[in-house]
Amino acid sequence: MISSGEEYVDSLRGRKLNVYLFGELIQDPVEHPIIKPSINALAKTYDLANENPDLATAVSPYTNERINRFLHIVESEKDLILQNKMQRKLGQLTGTCFQRCVGMDAINSLHSVTFDIDQAHNTNYHKKFLSFLTSVQKQGLVIGGAMTDVKGDRSLLPHQQEDPDLFVHVVDRSDDGVFITGAKAHQTGVINSHWMIVMPTLRLTEDDKEYAIVGAIPVDAKGITYIYGRQSGDTRHMDNTPIDAGNNNYAGQEALVIFEKVFIPNELIFMNGEYDFSASLVERFTCYHRRSYVCKSGVGDVLIGAAAAIAEYNGVEKASHIKDKLTEMTHLNETIFGTGIASSYQAKKLESGVFINDDMLANVCKHHVTKFTYDIGRLAQDLAGGLVASMPSEKDMKHPDLGKIIKKYLATKPDLDPEDRIRMLRLIENMTLGRNAVGYLTESLHGAGSPQAQRIQISRQMQLGFKKELAQALSGIIPEKDSLPVTENETYMDRVFNTSKETD
Ligand code: SF4
Ligand code: FE
Repeated sequence: MISSGEEYVDSLRGRKLNVYLFGELIQDPVEHPIIKPSINALAKTYDLANENPDLATAVSPYTNERINRFLHIVESEKDLILQNKMQRKLGQLTGTCFQRCVGMDAINSLHSVTFDIDQAHNTNYHKKFLSFLTSVQKQGLVIGGAMTDVKGDRSLLPHQQEDPDLFVHVVDRSDDGVFITGAKAHQTGVINSHWMIVMPTLRLTEDDKEYAIVGAIPVDAKGITYIYGRQSGDTRHMDNTPIDAGNNNYAGQEALVIFEKVFIPNELIFMNGEYDFSASLVERFTCYHRRSYVCKSGVGDVLIGAAAAIAEYNGVEKASHIKDKLTEMTHLNETIFGTGIASSYQAKKLESGVFINDDMLANVCKHHVTKFTYDIGRLAQDLAGGLVASMPSEKDMKHPDLGKIIKKYLATKPDLDPEDRIRMLRLIENMTLGRNAVGYLTESLHGAGSPQAQRIQISRQMQLGFKKELAQALSGIIPEKDSLPVTENETYMDRVFNTSKETD
């Protein structure tokens, strides 16, 4: 079993992956200066498990052993809450995306969806899924989830696309399994994973049957090509100028993944044509994943700390408007965390035995993330001052003549080394304009669904009929009901948030 960050990094060595970056096949992704910081971020998920097992591990009912929480099937509200606390902690430790939540949310979604398909279609997916999961838990591997197709013309369903490969689909079948072709876009941490679980990305119809495929594939399987996603400022990791990198040790990872007739054996297929369950898979996955975005509150803690530090370095920390801006940043950041963890507290048990968090609050959390991170980033840049975008480079700072001039003119307080001021500004640049702005800003906007996707979910569940009744009762238009909490089995929160009762 892989049980430390170091062992994890070693496990990635020597694999034969087709990874392209800058038009070249990367011989050893593990040693590539652009890829390495993303591996370090994921490695932290292993180290945290050793440092704080209560937070980042759990005992698996399948192996009866302590495993990493990212591989654990949630058995209670408490497990969901601890996921969120772990995500915030990892955001604090890395200042970026640590890439492991998609797999965690995918396995928890598949626990219930495979169970439900078996009930409806008399299939055998749940057992196969649990046997795959048990083996991955025993080995302590990383699972990446591959959901987002490239999608082509957004107004058309998969089978209506001019090019059928714009959504991943089955192109051939044998007695032993299926062959899939297509591409998945912006796949978080995929090259740093050992396995990926391919899933459909939207609600499907009978004509899309060949697109209703879920299966586990080793990341080094035959027929897969990875094209590494560039991130702004990424080449700073190649220049051997760690100060300019801002956060030299940690970064996220996104890649375009292309499948050309990739084989999935029968025992690793967890949906095969049951198009009627694709919507519930996508909905359950996004329900878990939109609340996983509390990770950004951990990253926000770092940015708030950087803004407070730079205000101090600039000598303005006592100004009331500075304190107010830090208060505003904290308020926004805690609102993200508060809604995410509240969603976990409101969890319910599904028939398969897995718990799922509250969908409305998960969508509210993620929707906050699409906005508040930008507000927090703006305030951080406000406190940083214009120098955040105009600093001399590390090489100029290290230049024997220029270095002295830079230190003289960028000095603020006698006891502060101007280099520390620059380091802090580079971190703010990294998180709001540079490499980790990918995770903190753009991924916050589009990851786990763009803002409109959350607005649709929120509007579907907002229970206007129920709320109108409340108003009508109080204004005497209809008789007052006995009391708001409705029955023994239905709490007020159920009534407000439960989609199954009303979807006006
Ligand atoms: Fe996890 Fe956040 Fe990265 Fe998604 S964006 S994988 S939730 S750290
Ligand atoms: Fe993401």
